[in-house]
Order: sequence, then C-alpha cells, then structure tokens
Amino acid sequence: MGHSAAHEGILRRQAARESAARTYARALPIVPVRARGLTIEGADGQRYLDCLSGAGTLALGHNHPVVLEAIRKVLDSGAPLHVLDLATPVKDAFTTELFHTLPRELADRARIQFCGPAGTDAVEAALKLVRTATGREGMLAFTGAYHGMTAGALSVSGGAPDVRVARLPYPQDYRCPFGIGGADGAELAARWTENLLDDTKSGVPRPAGMILEPVQGEGGVIPAPDGWLRRMREITAARAIPLIADEVQTGVGRTGTFWAVEHSGVVPDVMVLSKAIGGSLPLAVVIYRDDLDVWQPGAHAGTFRGNQLAMAAGAATLAYVRENRLAERAGVLGTRMLAQLRSLATDHPCIGEVRGRGLMIGVELVDPAAPPGAAPAASGDVIPVASGGAIPEASSPVDPVAARSAGTPGGALTRAPRPLPPAPELAAAVQRECLRRGLIVELGGRHSSVVRLLPPLTITDEQAAAILDRLSDAISAAARPHHG
Ligand code: PLP
Repeated sequence: MGHSAAHEGILRRQAARESAARTYARALPIVPVRARGLTIEGADGQRYLDCLSGAGTLALGHNHPVVLEAIRKVLDSGAPLHVLDLATPVKDAFTTELFHTLPRELADRARIQFCGPAGTDAVEAALKLVRTATGREGMLAFTGAYHGMTAGALSVSGGAPDVRVARLPYPQDYRCPFGIGGADGAELAARWTENLLDDTKSGVPRPAGMILEPVQGEGGVIPAPDGWLRRMREITAARAIPLIADEVQTGVGRTGTFWAVEHSGVVPDVMVLSKAIGGSLPLAVVIYRDDLDVWQPGAHAGTFRGNQLAMAAGAATLAYVRENRLAERAGVLGTRMLAQLRSLATDHPCIGEVRGRGLMIGVELVDPAAPPGAAPAASGDVIPVASGGAIPEASSPVDPVAARSAGTPGGALTRAPRPLPPAPELAAAVQRECLRRGLIVELGGRHSSVVRLLPPLTITDEQAAAILDRLSDAISAAARPHHG
C-alpha cells in the first residue's frame, strides 16, 4: 500500500507542478526507482522492459557494470568534475576511444568540438561550423527530419519553416512522395536534389551544407537506402557542399554498424554525436574534417562542455560496444526481430509497414478500414484535409506486405499501392496496452502512429522474444473492435 500511495502521490504532484510541455511522462505514467539492463522497476513495484532506453541513449541498458565502474573510478580518484573545456586525462581517453571508432578517412583528419551536453547543441555547432567555413547561409535538410529543439536545430527539422533552409524529399517506401518507393523512388529523390542545386532558377542558392539522419528516428524509423546516401555524398562532394551526418540516435552500434554511415561506406565531412556516447550521461560533440576548422576561439562556447563523468561513462560504453561486437549483434538480432514483426503484420491489417535497421525498429499502424490514400483521421496535431483525400485510381485494397517491395531499379517505374492512412489513436492504444503488459515503447512518425523499439544492444534472445510477445499481445488487444 505504501508503495502504491507514494507512486500515486509523485505522479499527482508531477501533473500539478511540471510544465504542460512535458512529453514522455504523459504517455508513461510510471515512477522509475531502480533499473538494470532492459528492466526498470517502478515505485508501484511493477517491472517493465524498457524499449525506450532514454530515447535511444542506453546502448548498454540501465546501470551497466562497466559504466558504473567507470563513473566510480572518476569519483574515487579525486578528479575535478567541472573543468570547462580544459584538458584532462579522462577527456583525453574519451577522445582517443571515440576517434578509434570513426571511419578511418575521417579519423585521420578529425577535429572534435565538445558542445553543451545535448544533441541539439551539437547540431547548432555543426550548422555554425559549415556556415563559417563556406561563408554561405542556406542549408539543405529533409522532410521528416528531427535534429533537436533549439532554434537552429528546429529550423532543419521537418515542420519548422525557415527561409534559409530548403526542404528535400527523404526517400521512403510506404509513403514515398513519388508513389513509387524502392530504389526508383530514392533515385527520383536524389535527382530532385541534384536538379535543385544545378538549376540556376531553382530559388535555392548554393548552401552551406546538407544535414541528414542515416535513419530518421523521430520521423518514424525510416532507413535511408545505402545507394541514396552515396548519391547524396557524390552530389554534395561534387559541389563542395559539406555533408553533415546527424548520428545522435543512430550511433554506437544501434543500426548494426558502429556508425550508421558505415553501411553505405559514406564518409561525411561532419558528424553530430550525442546520446549513447555519454554512456547514459549528457555529452555531445561535433566531429569534422580539419580543413573546416576555421572558426574563431569561442565560436561555440558553453559552461557545461567538460562533463568528466559522462566522458568516463562514454569511453567505457564505446569500448564495450567495440570489444564485444555489439553492433554486429544489433544487426543480427534486429534482422530477426524485423522478420518476426513482418510475419506478425500478415495477421494484422492494422500494421501498414514494419521497418528499421538493427535495433532501431518501427511498426507503423494504419487504419485498415479507410480507403487507401485517405487523409489521416483528425486528432491531436493532425490537420484534416477538406474532403476525399482518397484517390479513386487505387481501388484495390492494399496488401501491406506486397506494398513493401515496390520499385525495380533500372526497370520501368512501378507505381506502389497507396498507403493506408496512419492511425495515431490506435498507436496510442498499443502503447497503453504495452505498458499494461510491462513493456515501455515510444511513438514516433509524422502522426505519432509508429510504435518504436530501441532496446539496449545487450538484450538476450529471450528478452527479445519477450518484447515481441508483449507487443504482439498489445496490438491484438488494441486492434480488437470496441476496444475501450
Ligand atoms: N538529432 C537526432 C537525430 C535526434 O534523434 C535527437 C533527439 O532525439 C537530436 C538530434 C536532439 O538531441 P537532444 O534531445 O539531446 O537535444
């Protein structure tokens, strides 16, 4: 009884005192008091499998022994905890370990800027860096992108208009803007980008840089095809436009390689890193090629750029992921989980698409009763479209599984079946049903209709099976008619 009373009281006081802008706390009314690996224990005594993992931060799960040991070692050594951006042995070891993991071509000529301890500040630094180095202002960014919440990072995120930022289509299969998907859809997206840069009347002046996520995370787990990423590299390199890879969420083994750009072999000019690099504590950096290093001393200052505990926890995490080949493990396990989810999709018409890379997995929920191509039902921030979003030519019902394989590289363009409208309310119901079954999942995507799994890279096969069991039950329960 004491347990539960404390739990209720804390939640009640949070609702009464914290900001209306609070986020995860709304959908996940839990009060974590202890955690280890995949598991969180709440003040109510309940245990949860945590597939939110600090929004993709906890590569090794909660309180991994090597992380705790690294933190204790710094505490016990008497080292200063606050040092601005001064040199320390802890920072030196972190930088050495981080450089060790980078693509060789970049590592050989890399510079590092320690930023204020959030991904969004490292994005700000990256934008400032390329603007200073090129003397240009404009940026190229992608539909559906998420780069953070400060002004510059928001300006390159989808949904934040800024006259200095040109929007380019991010390739995707299920909701391909060209209605094609696959390699052909991605190639059209690349040609649009190329054309915009070379057409002297496109209205887009030569930009200071291009920023992209190798897999869009908050945008709904959309992996960029490797071929498209290589095209973006060629297009930017040929025009002396710095390419910024935002690996805040995809880094440190998450997608099956240490850095997600490695899948394509692309070497970016700038990499933005945060989340997992701090081993669960706040840390953010920008890595870039030395010839871009022309900004002035103090160009990107900040009081909290020397978090020694985060650097120690981060170095231990990076080393553990590397030594234990956890990226490879994430790749193998992720492929298996994706296959299992896809077979689940065949029994659930409300699953529009299953996608992901490594242990960055998304299940898009749709409304199977709506006509394909219809506008999403009005709810929350979803803006209803006047009438009949449905396009008559797509009369046959969409087979969500067949819809995934559209597009034939090199052949005639094949029109993909129209996707079903997203189902944000169903997704919220799935999230609630997951929580009732002791599983914490995140929602993402344009309409918050994508259930996201970001488990620690350390999970066992049994834990992966338990996650999928609970998710499968939750989808069945939420999709049941008259679910209340
Ligand atoms: N970039 C990407 C790709 C992200 O996913 C996020 C956060 O989710 C950010 C930047 C912003 O990081 P932070 O929330 O630490 O500011």
